Amino acid sequence: MATQNDKPVWFITGCSTGFGREIARKTLSLGYPTVITARNPSTLADLANEYADLALVLELDVMKAAQIEAATRAAIERFGRIDVLVNNAGIGYFGSFEESERDEVRTMFDINVWGLADMTRAVLPQMRKQRSGTIVNISSVGGIIAFPALSFYNATKFAVEALSESLSQELAPLGIKVLVVEPGPFRTDWAGRSANQAPQTIDDYANTAKARTDMIRGYSGKQPGDPVRAADAIVKTVESENPPLRLLLGKAALANARLKLDALKRDFDGWETVSAGADFPEG
Ligand code: NAP
Repeated sequence: MATQNDKPVWFITGCSTGFGREIARKTLSLGYPTVITARNPSTLADLANEYADLALVLELDVMKAAQIEAATRAAIERFGRIDVLVNNAGIGYFGSFEESERDEVRTMFDINVWGLADMTRAVLPQMRKQRSGTIVNISSVGGIIAFPALSFYNATKFAVEALSESLSQELAPLGIKVLVVEPGPFRTDWAGRSANQAPQTIDDYANTAKARTDMIRGYSGKQPGDPVRAADAIVKTVESENPPLRLLLGKAALANARLKLDALKRDFDGWETVSAGADFPEG
C-alpha cells in the first residue's frame, strides 16, 4: 500500500461510536494519520486530544454533499493523500415491509447507500491519481442474507454489495482495491439508538417481523461480536498481501452466510433443467 512517511492515511466516516470509533482508535494507535469524522465532532474530542498530531477531526454528515467535498479537500490538504477510505456511517430500521415508513427508509438509503456512494466518488479522483488505495465498505451479513423485519435495511446493504463488487472490477486495473466488510451482530449502538422502527400496526406480522424486531432490540448490548477485535481484523485485512473482496466478521455471520450459500445452491441445482430450458434450442 502507498504511504506518506511510511504511514498510510485513513479516512473514516461515523466515528462517534461503534466500528468507526474502534477503527479510528486502532489506526491512530498504529501511528497512522487518520481523518476522523462525525456529525457531531465534539464526540471525537478524546481521540483528538490523545492524537493531536495524527488526527484530523472533521464534521461530516454523509447526507451533506458540501461537507463530503469539504472534508475530502481538507484531508488531502493536510495529509497529501488518502490511502484508505472507510465508509462506515450507517443506521438500521426494523419493521415488516408493509409497515415500514417510506420517508424513514428513504433516509436510511440516503445514509447507507447514497452517502457511501457520494463519499467514494469524492475520494476516487485522488486514489486514481495515486494509482493506489483501498475503499472499505461496511456492509453487513445482512448484505448477503435477508431476514424478516429487515427488508429495507437488507436492501441498503445488498445495494452496497453490488456497488462494491462492480466497483472492485473497475478499480483493480487502476491499483485500487475494494473490501466489503460483513459483520454479524456486534456490540455497538446500531441495534439501539442507531435504528428506528416501524409502528407495529398489523397483527399478521407478530410472529415474523415483530418477533425479529423484539429479538434484535433484546440483544442490543449483548451481541457476541467485539468491535475492537473487528477493527483489528479490518486493519489487518486491508494490510494483507491478497485481501479478499468480502470479509465476514463473527461466527453468526459465517453461519448465516453459509445458510445463504446452501439455499442458493438448492434453488440453482433443483431448478437447473427449467433454468437451462429457457434458452433457444442450440444448433
Ligand atoms: P453505531 O455505534 O450506531 O455507529 C453508527 C455510526 O454512524 C455513528 O457514528 C453515527 O453517528 C454514524 N452516522 C449515522 N448517520 C450518519 C450520517 N448521516 N452521517 C455520518 N455519520 C452517520 O453502529 P455500528 O455498528 O458501529 O455501525 C457502523 C456500521 O456497521 C453501519 O454501517 C452498520 O450498518 C454496520 N453494521 C453493524 C452491525 C452491528 O451489529 N453492529 C452489523 C452489521 C453491519 P451519530 O453518533 O451522529 O449518530
